[in-house]
Amino acid sequence: MADEKKSLQTLLTATDYRPPEGFSAFPSAIHHASTVLFKNVAALRARNWQEKSGYTYGLHGTPTTFTLEARLAEIEGGSHCLLAPSGLAAIAMINLALLKSGDDLLLPDNAYNPNRELAYWLQSDFGISSQFYDPMIGEQIGELIKPTTRLIWTEAPGSVSMEMPDVPAICRAAKAHGVPVALDNTWSAGLVFRAFEHGVDIVMQALTKYQSGGSDALMGAVITRDKALHRKIDTAHMRLGLGVSADDTYLVLRGLPTMKLRFDAHDASARKIAAWLKQRPEIAQVLHPALEDCPGHDIWKRDFTGAAGLFSVLFDPAYSETQTDRFIDSLKLFKIGYSWGGANSLAVPYRMTQIRRDWPHQGQLVRFNIGLEDVQDLINDLTQAFKSLQ
Ligand SMILES: *Cc1c(COP(=O)(O)O)cnc(C)c1O
Repeated sequence: MADEKKSLQTLLTATDYRPPEGFSAFPSAIHHASTVLFKNVAALRARNWQEKSGYTYGLHGTPTTFTLEARLAEIEGGSHCLLAPSGLAAIAMINLALLKSGDDLLLPDNAYNPNRELAYWLQSDFGISSQFYDPMIGEQIGELIKPTTRLIWTEAPGSVSMEMPDVPAICRAAKAHGVPVALDNTWSAGLVFRAFEHGVDIVMQALTKYQSGGSDALMGAVITRDKALHRKIDTAHMRLGLGVSADDTYLVLRGLPTMKLRFDAHDASARKIAAWLKQRPEIAQVLHPALEDCPGHDIWKRDFTGAAGLFSVLFDPAYSETQTDRFIDSLKLFKIGYSWGGANSLAVPYRMTQIRRDWPHQGQLVRFNIGLEDVQDLINDLTQAFKSLQ
């Protein structure tokens, strides 16, 4: 109701109107806020920004972000979750929370490349050294752990070269030395690899991929079970001011109910296309963890209950980069672009010698994101593009 005593300008800034209570619907409400209002000064003074039983400031959470955090923790089998503006921001937050100058970091040699670049920067400018280990090292990682090692990253599988590491073995060795293990669990979407049950301490997800599924939002998450570890990362989250938008949070929430249906469809299509590519004479190897000749296939079979729609192929070394670039340019349904997990199929070439120090293969590597298009249409597209190689 309009208050006669207020000027029109003041009425434009706020209202006493409250919609009736009792509205109920499946979607979470989208709460936008920088300022969060307190009932009185005592309430303001009493509030602790780290407690999720109340609200302090938009940066520290709203009902919308708390809901997504709670849902991601549930899905992953963890107890705490923090959102970050991208998957890479989530990675950086973990590193900055747990590492200081003089510490040592262990990273798989097939790590998501921006994680590797971040490690180089931590080394050159912040005095945090890093060692890159063979992703197939398993329990022998214990031999690389120094008294100063404070964090071990794992990625299952490496998101370009697709080797599947023995995460439980790495976790056992790390545990024996009291070093936490972080897993980039984006490929499994938290659906087909139960990271905490395999010994992982910190799960990182690029929600940009399957959780969103829309190729329209960037977001990351860090999920933990241990409260002290969560608090440590939460402090870095606060110090770095890592806020996420309410609308983007909603986009991710909107993707969750269909995530497993989409994931299973991506999985089924990718396996069909991987098997089809395997019998093509132009392809020397298909790097898909569900195929027997992919490094770590047995580990995938032991630890995973499914596979994502992301895999790579190695062309026969007879084909030059110019030829395989032409192959990619000839694709019509497959588009050229980074990221994955959306409805549209993508193809990206990688110069492996620039990202893996000891890459043993000669042929060109192309990574595919298999979308939700009809499988036969995708195979027809690949078939016509292979003709460009002749
Ligand atoms: C995309 C991706 C990330 C980073 O996510 P962004 O939201 O794009 O920053 C991290 N790890 C893996 C394996 C990814 O594929």
